Amino acid sequence: MSNDIFKKIIDEIAEIGSEVIAITGLGEPLIDKDLETKIKYAKQRNIRIVQLFTNAALLDEERTEKLIKAGLDNIIISTDAADKETYEKIRLNLPFEKVERNIKNFIRIRNALKVEKPKIKLNMTVFGENVHQRTYFHRKYKDYVDGIHFSYARQWGEDKSTFSKSDTVVNRYMSKTRVYPCPLLWLHFNVFWDGSVPLCCMDFDCTHPLGQINTMSIKNIWHGNKLNSVRDQHNMGKSNENKLCKDCMYYISWFSASVAAKKKEFVV
Ligand code: SF4
Repeated sequence: MSNDIFKKIIDEIAEIGSEVIAITGLGEPLIDKDLETKIKYAKQRNIRIVQLFTNAALLDEERTEKLIKAGLDNIIISTDAADKETYEKIRLNLPFEKVERNIKNFIRIRNALKVEKPKIKLNMTVFGENVHQRTYFHRKYKDYVDGIHFSYARQWGEDKSTFSKSDTVVNRYMSKTRVYPCPLLWLHFNVFWDGSVPLCCMDFDCTHPLGQINTMSIKNIWHGNKLNSVRDQHNMGKSNENKLCKDCMYYISWFSASVAAKKKEFVV
């Protein structure tokens, strides 16, 4: 994402009073060489929480120091497995040792700088190939990082097999939650690298575009007809009429995760 688009977003949300941004999406944010400049700008504009999602492959010592000094609040590292064999089966061409080393170095450098932030959280996306590792993952890293989060795999396309195999909690809540509107339509605003605004984070190919940041304001897109008509659809219990929402199981995981968290099945 260009610095101009990023600044436009931050300036607008600072004015609106939004408090949290997540730098994430369909790609690896650390590829952006200007990332620290962007983080610094968001903090200067008083965005309370700036968080970054990464696979930590490019998180070397130099990058770590720069991110800490830029004022990053949270770093969420997608690790997905607690041993080499499982990890490298899932994350092709990414050496497990390198990622673990980067995580350890991150914590060492943060501690040496005597700062409390960024908080570091590990995320394991649970599905068929790694579901057996959940307990081991938690035991191995729980005393090491500031938080551990288990999330559900999202389905791409219409194949739900991987997703539904991953956790019975999802299955349990699947039929019940379909009648509720998806909370993401009122909670999240997503912007792709080129300024296009998809319906939600599940709209990978931007098949339901809401607008363009380069030519429209966030306020106008957020309150615009396109988004409001999907909200209406959901409010009327007609989410099945929306091509993208019809087979979506992601929002179901929001309900199941919060219920599971209350039951302490999750560590968030
Ligand atoms: S139901 Fe799924 S596709 Fe529809 S808005 Fe929610 S997250 Fe997006």
